[in-house]
Amino acid sequence: MHRRKFLKNSALTSAAVLGTAPLISCAETGTKTSQKISPGRPVTICTWDFGNATEKAWSVLNTGGSALDAAEQGVMVEEADPENQTVGLGGRPDRDGIVTLDACIMDSKSNCGAVMGLEGYVHAVSVARRVMEETPHVILAGDGASQFAAEQGFSRTDLLTERSRQEWMEWKKTSKYTPVINIENHDTIGLLTLDAKGDLAGACTTSGMAYKLRGRVGDSPVIGAGLYVDPEVGAATATGMGEEVVRTVGSFLIVELMRQGKSPEEACREGVHRIMKKNAGRTDFQIGFIALNTRGETGGYCIHPGFSYRQYDSKGHRNTPVESYLKS
Ligand code: ASP
Repeated sequence: MHRRKFLKNSALTSAAVLGTAPLISCAETGTKTSQKISPGRPVTICTWDFGNATEKAWSVLNTGGSALDAAEQGVMVEEADPENQTVGLGGRPDRDGIVTLDACIMDSKSNCGAVMGLEGYVHAVSVARRVMEETPHVILAGDGASQFAAEQGFSRTDLLTERSRQEWMEWKKTSKYTPVINIENHDTIGLLTLDAKGDLAGACTTSGMAYKLRGRVGDSPVIGAGLYVDPEVGAATATGMGEEVVRTVGSFLIVELMRQGKSPEEACREGVHRIMKKNAGRTDFQIGFIALNTRGETGGYCIHPGFSYRQYDSKGHRNTPVESYLKS
């Protein structure tokens, strides 16, 4: 039997003080509550507890920068952090011990760019942005993406840190050499921005599922799945098991649900429920969506109570309700 438990937001961190971002998280209460936030702009939100990324994005927005620059520069903070083993430098490798990055970026004019399976370059999001701005294409993959990054002047770096290499070696001892569907070994950063002019943008970047089969690509670099931006409606991004997000074209779905009148939170909830309907009986994966509409309203919904997201906005930093769908 499966049953739904609605989890309401609990503010886990300090008060919403200017200069700090609240951590939004889920805690079980058995009841559903809703907390209204004042819409406005600029605003930025990102998946999980990547406060340094939202801080950076906010600093760009708050000094008159564009939504696109803020989205890129926000996620770059996490790409460059070797301690973050789910994004960029220091990301966990694939089954064969090679770190491959997936990323995409999208702006308010439906311009978008993506790289899949990029090896040897820290800032996958910036390579994705160059794909968007310097080529007639949307996606470059594998060797072609690396070649393009080199041609664009990005410097090559070994992304596998000693810590991630050691963990991979340990994993190989007991894994029977098959990748585990991601439960705790993932945490993509998806970051959405609305700037002072009212333009939206988003970026999504990840090293993907840890110890994935070589060549596996998740949702994160797939426009419509891991990220979608529509200037008339809003933007959404996803984290969790990419295969399920791709199957539902998740972020596009969230934006379309907002177009039909749902709030960001309601849209994210409906998206998660659609995925759960297709996965009756499964308890071995996580999915989370966050969304931002053109009015600056935000929302999120997740399967797992550990899901959290960070928000910065022009009224100070505030808590946003996040509910979870739990199966038991
Ligand atoms: N969505 C990512 C992927 O499937 C992983 C994650 O968000 O944690 O590659």
